Amino acid sequence: MRKATARFICFALSLTFLISARAAAFPDWDFPLEPETVYDFDQYITLANRSHLLDSGYVPGDLVKTTVRRASGVGAMELRKAANDALNEMFEAASEAGYTLYLKSAYRSYQTQKTMYNNRLQKMGRDDGLVAYPGSSDHQTGLGADILNYAWTQKDGMNKEFAKTAEAQWMLEHCHEFGFILRYMEDKEDITSIKFEPWHFRYVGREAAAYIMENHLSLEEFTEEWQNYVADYEARGGDFHELIIWRARVRDAVVVNVNEYGEEEYSIFY
Ligand SMILES: [Zn+2]
Repeated sequence: MRKATARFICFALSLTFLISARAAAFPDWDFPLEPETVYDFDQYITLANRSHLLDSGYVPGDLVKTTVRRASGVGAMELRKAANDALNEMFEAASEAGYTLYLKSAYRSYQTQKTMYNNRLQKMGRDDGLVAYPGSSDHQTGLGADILNYAWTQKDGMNKEFAKTAEAQWMLEHCHEFGFILRYMEDKEDITSIKFEPWHFRYVGREAAAYIMENHLSLEEFTEEWQNYVADYEARGGDFHELIIWRARVRDAVVVNVNEYGEEEYSIFY
């Protein structure tokens, strides 16, 4: 919510009239997902990879201590609240289906990535691609989780053989129901530049997860798809920001305050 507010600060008064005047003229939004999902108020669909590095200072504002079963020997971990809530639901559903899941890794700070990367560099004498470049880890979003079954918590390291386990197959089939996607798919290695990781699930919210898994997309492909759609929407005369504000107004979800400079500030609730 804080983020959304900040984005709308300092809109001039004239925008109010601009919106009402233009509301009827918005082009159709026929992307399969709601505009608010794509607008990403909560930063649930944020992409982190080698070409979309997260800022060294980026720390999610709503990290909580994880409350699901942890792999033995793994200390306290953190995830963003929505991801932890969803993970609890997924672990619960897995239990009901007869599977016991274990969380192995969750939020990873920029500093931790930097230390891991530098240690690897020192050991190998070069970047061998096996440790994420600082800022490129999906774990820095606080939405990525490495999840194993018991047998694999006892092993040293992980590999794609995990995909053959009943737990991995159950997660692949059901993760979207809880808002998770398989972040690094086997046939998307060329796109993600990351090897198949059948244990790494990423929270994106239920609507996006259902779409992404149904269409078998990497987060990179999904990002390109919605960004192209927004560009096309604007090329058709639409204004994405105005659309979001207008839709919030329609459902009476905008609070307008006047700041110290006499400008209107918009806070959107959704
Ligand atoms: Zn991972």
